[in-house]
Amino acid sequence: MPSAVGDRLARAGVLGLQGDFREHLDTFQRLGAEAVDVRRPEQLDEVDALVIPGGESTTIGKLAERYGFIPKLRERIADGMPVWGTCAGAIFIAKDVPGHPHPILSAMDISVERNAFGRQQDSFEADLVVRDIGGAPYHAVFIRAPKITKTGSDVETIAALDDGTVVAARQGNLLATSFHPELTPDDRFHRYFLSLGKK
Ligand code: GLN
Repeated sequence: MPSAVGDRLARAGVLGLQGDFREHLDTFQRLGAEAVDVRRPEQLDEVDALVIPGGESTTIGKLAERYGFIPKLRERIADGMPVWGTCAGAIFIAKDVPGHPHPILSAMDISVERNAFGRQQDSFEADLVVRDIGGAPYHAVFIRAPKITKTGSDVETIAALDDGTVVAARQGNLLATSFHPELTPDDRFHRYFLSLGKK
């Protein structure tokens, strides 16, 4: 299904240091994109877009720093490369994560509170109306999910829960979702992300 991706964005990278990167790679492949498991900073030059997957944000942050990803990632983001953080990945790209001890990218003007839904709601699912993808409500899976508690003036909310909690946001080429679109068969988010790189 190559036409789903368009011509310009053939190579979608997924940061493969920890977490559920495999599911993102599988989704991009299903869409006809070339999917690259990014394990070394030099590979960032070979991809047109990058997903930072869900997993454990502390571990992803430590490994990203140890392997020298942070400066190169910042450079590619400044160049306009689309970067999408899902769940732990959203924590990783946020500018502000109160109480978070590990190095984070500090790229997107959002505040994110880790594990913010509490024990009662460790995991849950919700149908979301997502402004930018249209069509039927999007069935989203949340697992020890963060809340996006503040959004800067350049950040657009693209989905929120019924109580107003922001769970998906975009700032130019940066996308953050509290939930896991790689765990459900609906690939509208992956298509949307790939479209962000088109000029
Ligand atoms: N709670 C995890 C963290 O803070 C994120 C959970 C996830 O990615 N599913 O890193």
